[in-house]
Amino acid sequence: MKIIHKIRSLKSFRLPNVFILILIVFISCALLICINFFTIKILSANRAYVNGESHYSKGQKDASLHLITYLYNKDPNQYKLYLEELKVPQGDGIARKTLLKAGDNKVARQGFTIGRNHKDDLDDLVWLFVNFKNVPFLAKAIHEWEEGDALIEKLFIIGTQVNAKIQHNTLTVADQIKFLHQISSISAKLTINERNFSSTLGEGTRKIKNLLIITNIIFTLIIILSVCSYYSIMVKRLIVSKKEIEVKNENLILANNELDRFVYSASHDLRSPITSLKGLIEITQLEDDIDQIRDYLRLMYQSLAKQDQFISDIIDYSKNKRKQIIMEPVSLQEIFNEAISQLMHIENASKITFTQELLVDQIESDGLRLKIIISNLLSNAIKYADNTKQEMFISIKTYIHEGFNKIEVSDNGIGINDDCKDYIFEMYFGTNKNKGSGLGLYIVKEAVENIKGNISVFSESNIGSKFIVTIPTSYGA
Ligand code: ADP
Repeated sequence: MKIIHKIRSLKSFRLPNVFILILIVFISCALLICINFFTIKILSANRAYVNGESHYSKGQKDASLHLITYLYNKDPNQYKLYLEELKVPQGDGIARKTLLKAGDNKVARQGFTIGRNHKDDLDDLVWLFVNFKNVPFLAKAIHEWEEGDALIEKLFIIGTQVNAKIQHNTLTVADQIKFLHQISSISAKLTINERNFSSTLGEGTRKIKNLLIITNIIFTLIIILSVCSYYSIMVKRLIVSKKEIEVKNENLILANNELDRFVYSASHDLRSPITSLKGLIEITQLEDDIDQIRDYLRLMYQSLAKQDQFISDIIDYSKNKRKQIIMEPVSLQEIFNEAISQLMHIENASKITFTQELLVDQIESDGLRLKIIISNLLSNAIKYADNTKQEMFISIKTYIHEGFNKIEVSDNGIGINDDCKDYIFEMYFGTNKNKGSGLGLYIVKEAVENIKGNISVFSESNIGSKFIVTIPTSYGA
């Protein structure tokens, strides 16, 4: 029983579902991959913008330089070079304007290409602009870019004015000074815008990098923790199942030993009445005295009754071991009445007064086990009645106590010696081999445990015995 209890307590030791942990690891890995993918994409697009800005800035500076040179040496080649270089920031400007209005489009891509951006960077440039244009750091950079484009526009207008004056030969020294001053001022303002653009992107990149490091650390920690918990749970499960196997093994060894003992004793106990029967038949054959023959026949009957009792005990033992527990409505009253009527053949049974006080009758339990329990307790109470007493009685009670059903069988029989009390529930323990097989109370105890109950005994030698069976009132689902 201890072993069964141990298995139950091992089974009740529940571990968290490992599938949740596997799911956490899976989701964390997926998120980590996604976050890293998008962060790398954002960082790569940022790099492309910073790269583009350097072309923008170089184009604008070279254009300013060519325009100033043209302003003083009036060489048309310088004007061409100026226009050529100015196309770079202008191209970027076209891309910005069309992306803002129409999202990803051919014109924007062409604008970026004119802005000397690498063709492999076009996708990243467009993707970042379209998806993140409202994110604070990019919105701020786009604003700087817009201001820069306005200045480029002004530079273009100045270039046109310079060219017109040179073409009409109306350029004065005062004009030259004025234009030079305007070009320098635009160039200085553009430098500020360009610097702000780069530093805003740089700041954004750094923030993204920090965010990436933090999220990487968090998700890596989640993955490590989940994997560690998974392993510790699996190790615990292994330990629990190892213990379960050990307990089951112990149980098997015990069951094997019990079976060995059972087979040995059963064969011995089955043979002994046959041996005595054979002896009785032999001496009866030689006997002529009819009274003596009757006496021998009575002894033969006793031998056969003993064997019958033993076989019926073995059948009970086997039923109790093999048959499934079936919870059903049973009447304790009916079981008691049936058992008493079947046991009336036992010697002295008719001289005993039976009293019944059944406060509980209909219960939900296993009928077969209850029959085995009640029949064995009653048969013992009859077998071990004290016929030296004037009035022999057996009292049967059923009641509910502390939420449990109680079945009580008491008698004023010969009682049980204190030194025997500890052994009466053991297999083959019997004080009187003529009266029983020693299996009855062993089977009773097993049957009681099968229906999740327990049995206790109170007995005093020469006074009587009381057996109390406690079983649950309900067995749940
Ligand atoms: P048996 O077949 O010998 O009766 P049991 O397992 O039923 O085997 O009982 C074991 C022993 O317990 C009996 O031999 C007897 O000594 C004692 N016993 C059981 N019930 C009673 C009782 N009601 N009164 C006195 N002794 C009892």
